[in-house]
Amino acid sequence: MHDFDYLEPTTLHEVCQLMAQWGDEARVMAGGTALMLALRQRLTSPQRIVSVARVPELRGIHVAADQSLSIGAFTTHSEVAQSSHIQQHYPMLSRMASQVANWQVRNQGTIGGNLCYADPATDPPGCLLALGAEVVLQGLGKQRVLPMAEFLVDYYETALEADEVLVAIRLPAPQPHALGSYMRHLKTPADHRPLVNVSITSVQSGAAIDALCLVVGASTPFPVRVQSTNALLAQQPTATLIQSVAQTAAEEIDVLSDSRASADYRREVVRVLVERALSAHFNLSCM
Ligand SMILES: Cc1cc2nc3c(=O)[nH]c(=O)nc-3n(C[C@H](O)[C@H](O)[C@H](O)COP(=O)(O)OP(=O)(O)OC[C@H]3O[C@@H](n4cnc5c(N)ncnc54)[C@H](O)[C@@H]3O)c2cc1C
Repeated sequence: MHDFDYLEPTTLHEVCQLMAQWGDEARVMAGGTALMLALRQRLTSPQRIVSVARVPELRGIHVAADQSLSIGAFTTHSEVAQSSHIQQHYPMLSRMASQVANWQVRNQGTIGGNLCYADPATDPPGCLLALGAEVVLQGLGKQRVLPMAEFLVDYYETALEADEVLVAIRLPAPQPHALGSYMRHLKTPADHRPLVNVSITSVQSGAAIDALCLVVGASTPFPVRVQSTNALLAQQPTATLIQSVAQTAAEEIDVLSDSRASADYRREVVRVLVERALSAHFNLSCM
């Protein structure tokens, strides 16, 4: 690994100043689980590492007066999984967080680092997109709040600018009659990372579905909201309808093809997982 200066600012303003000053020569470090691997593999060679571990503004899980939730970017996956507020009000998020990687990575890796690295083979981005999350970005003298769909730009690419830091992830207040579920597929039991994941949120007051959002992630360059699920709106879901939605979903999205799996294989797994996830979400048995 090459030599670098390790900086430990204690305020958000200082972090933004350092990032604005050093630009591409510096990298923010949170838990370091992704960045340290990238440094060792010489995928990046910054001259300065700016740790955000001592910055209080990036910590904590807070409920606002309007009941919306703010999760500090420096919150570990384990803290998300174990938060009693998240378990009670956003159970799909705590279940998702408890499936990330293994104990070591969950205890060290942060939700903010996960989003900023924008590795497609991950769990939180799709789940947060389905939950309608927004991200709070702080730059030198300016703050932006972006919906997840605008933050996740492409394969390993986000909307973060050089002087910006992800401060927090905001989730809308829990809605009455809302349901959420998360399902992921590992290619082999020895894998940590998902090959495909499906996140679903819905609002259902009677038998028919009032609102539905289904996001496919991990096999796409960035998580995508599937449009074919619109066929389920204002309907009572049936196994046949779900099969047809899953088939169209698999045809509709752009899938990756790489050393982990071919595009054809991933497309088939997307079809099967969308069908399983929708069936489980609406308590129907898969055909
Ligand atoms: C063995 C292993 C298995 C894994 N399995 C899974 C899995 O199953 N599912 C899954 O979702 N993920 C998985 N991961 C990825 C893991 O979730 C991420 O590595 C972790 O969340 C990154 O967080 P971090 O705090 O360690 O980020 P760091 O490594 O510190 O940073 C990652 C990147 O984000 C930037 N960054 C970090 N914080 C900020 C911020 N606040 N503002 C701006 N930029 C920032 C850094 O500059 C760097 O580019 C796995 C990782 C490993 C090593």
